[in-house]
Amino acid sequence: KDYHETKVVLVVVLKGSFLFAADLCRAIDMHNVRIDFLGVRSYGEGTESSGVVQITQDLSKPIADEDVIIVEDIVDTGLTIAHLMDLFRTRAPRSVKVCALLHKPARAKVQVQVDYLGFTIEDKFVVGYGLDFAERYRNLPYIGVVERS
Ligand code: 5GP
Repeated sequence: KDYHETKVVLVVVLKGSFLFAADLCRAIDMHNVRIDFLGVRSYGEGTESSGVVQITQDLSKPIADEDVIIVEDIVDTGLTIAHLMDLFRTRAPRSVKVCALLHKPARAKVQVQVDYLGFTIEDKFVVGYGLDFAERYRNLPYIGVVERS
């Protein structure tokens, strides 16, 4: 409804968002939607964010004058989204909004606005449905909590 008759770009933040984005885009009943991918790395091999947001793969096309929706698996410290908002602003889109499946507000380091949100969760490290732990578990067909022994 918000994007009636406009051109929308779904920017899928890889890799964690790929399954969410696949389901989300099939639920959007509009013809003027294109999908692009952005590779980002903020976590190392562990479960703590390094705080350094590294772009590993850029968008394939400019986003000038387009309505951008950033599709994220999870907003944790908020650093990734804050960084992407800054980056995209330099590319003159018509608008930028954020759609995230999960939000962990307990760990926020910067305030970011999540325009479309699935679920707010507590401060636990989750895996599955695209989300990994050292590149594993992305293929789990559900979201689970990693318990440390
Ligand atoms: P932020 O920059 O908001 O701290 O973190 C964003 C990214 O960190 C997410 O896109 C995701 O890749 C990763 N991340 C944050 N929390 C979790 C979590 O609980 N599980 C997994 N697998 N990744 C997480």
